[in-house]
Amino acid sequence: MFDSHCHLTDDRFAEDREEVLSRAHAAGVRRVVTIASDLADSLAAIKLAAAHPDTWCSVGIHPHEVERAQEGDELRIRELAAREEVVALGETGLDYFYDNSPRALQRDWFGRHLDLAAELDLPVVVHTREADRDIMELLDAAVPEITTVLHCFTGGMELLEFGLERGSYVSFSGIVSFGKFDGHEAVRRVPRDRLLVETDSPYLAPVPRRGKRNEPALLPHVIEAVAALRGENASDVAEYTSENAARFYGI
Ligand SMILES: [Zn+2]
Repeated sequence: MFDSHCHLTDDRFAEDREEVLSRAHAAGVRRVVTIASDLADSLAAIKLAAAHPDTWCSVGIHPHEVERAQEGDELRIRELAAREEVVALGETGLDYFYDNSPRALQRDWFGRHLDLAAELDLPVVVHTREADRDIMELLDAAVPEITTVLHCFTGGMELLEFGLERGSYVSFSGIVSFGKFDGHEAVRRVPRDRLLVETDSPYLAPVPRRGKRNEPALLPHVIEAVAALRGENASDVAEYTSENAARFYGI
């Protein structure tokens, strides 16, 4: 299995990061991409990925964090993106639910990540929350060759169709296992060759561990929930989502 999106540099893993990675391996989650949230986190992610086999990372600035970003950060991200551990840019995008940073600044940095992706030929990890309209507008304005993943997808069907039309991958997290989850149609709609799975750990632990700290070893619960909704075999979903993640990240 391939956890396409987690945050292993998070402080909540400070005490037992090595055990977390061993547990993932023991659970059959052999590959992980740890996703960066700001410049300091990008450096930490590279260090972590460099020290562990079958572990890669992204570099970039989360929409929550763009207000604290410095002008020189873009240049540093560009430099760091050349490292062999780095397989994507992000996570970037728009979050109009939390609005932790001004929306205009979120749009500005999302655009910068997309420009950088076109220049560096790297895929982009897109965070989108209650911003479907503006995400579509900015993706529409971007170079069509950029490969994107709509991560932890909870958006509307219009955004989903737009993304699929544009060649995007779509990733689902433990949210699919929650009782109130209402995106069943979206989970069924994504073609096999575009579907990714993720834990987004330490956030969003799937049922039966909901509310606890999440970790990559819990990915099988996400896969089971996705498989059940699609009426497929969990082992098939595990296999094709691993292949898709490797293709998406160019691994
Ligand atoms: Zn994330």
